[in-house]
Amino acid sequence: MTRQFLNSMSGRQHALLITGICLMAVLLSVGLIQEIRIPQKRISSVSTHMTIRQIAPKLGVSGKALARELALPLNAKKHKPLNEMGIRHERLIHVVNHLIGHRSSPIKYYLFSALVLWGWLFLTQIGRPPKMALNQRKKWYPRLGYIIPLLASVIVAGFLLGKSPNPMEGAVKVFKSMVGLYPHVWEKIAAFAFFILLAVVGTKLICGWACPFGALQELIYTLPLFKKIKRHKLPFAVTNAIRVALFLTMLLLLLSGVVGRKKGFVIYPYINPFNLFNLDVEAASILMTIIAALGVSLFFYRPFCQFICPFGLLSRMVERFSFYRVTIIDMAACTHCGACAKAVPCRQWQGV
Ligand code: SF4
Repeated sequence: MTRQFLNSMSGRQHALLITGICLMAVLLSVGLIQEIRIPQKRISSVSTHMTIRQIAPKLGVSGKALARELALPLNAKKHKPLNEMGIRHERLIHVVNHLIGHRSSPIKYYLFSALVLWGWLFLTQIGRPPKMALNQRKKWYPRLGYIIPLLASVIVAGFLLGKSPNPMEGAVKVFKSMVGLYPHVWEKIAAFAFFILLAVVGTKLICGWACPFGALQELIYTLPLFKKIKRHKLPFAVTNAIRVALFLTMLLLLLSGVVGRKKGFVIYPYINPFNLFNLDVEAASILMTIIAALGVSLFFYRPFCQFICPFGLLSRMVERFSFYRVTIIDMAACTHCGACAKAVPCRQWQGV
């Protein structure tokens, strides 16, 4: 199939393919250079004899955020040694490890860009060999061109490079930094803007091709199981209503401080499935979210994206401005034959 696909490509498409691969190699090389230049933060340089004010800058978080992770009140004295506030060494190391797991890895931004570039190239440029008849559309897209980037996303952007940055946290951190849980608000806004920009380049390019947890759900869904159940779908209005409700609840809790009068409570860290990529799944709620999302993915398309993810919600708002997007279907003329869904390259082989 792949050879047939390559043979049917035009000279222009071959040139685009080679150019795209070269660009991706350049992006990854630049990212690698930047990554090497970032000094690693050393855990050994913190101890419980130090204060929140001394430790928080080393971890790139605010004093409030560190206090919250240590289960101290947000207004805990920032100049008092931690051992005098009852914090044990093991607890501190656990929290430091967790916060270092949030450290943004520069190469991941380049990797995300490379995967998005491939997605765009594959879907809009090289994936339509001019020598093939229109009724062979399903054959246009070889499975490998889709599976390999998804695996790269899960393995490299996920397990090898850790959970941060990722689109979901990019969205949540903006709101957290607004209430003082992260210093450098503009850094968080810039990270979020990066992901939103990729969504503007092409609808679902970042979610469809680069997000590691999205890719993991997608790979599980492509397994040839529960085909009959997969034919049934929940209306978008239902799934989106749940996602919106969760997001509004997050905003309410974050800004009003209704939980234990702790301004800054955020729901998403308790159900953040990206923790899987750092193997940081001690919290029962996180473990349950991961198991539920991956289990349901066997028969329901990307449940975490559809029901929960705030980035999916926010990026959808800007996708109407995307340069590349699916042409809006004329619902009045739609006969619900399902031909369009079957022709979608991402899921062409599932018969759903
Ligand atoms: S909706 Fe969220 S979890 Fe799903 S692919 Fe997009 S960013 Fe990733």
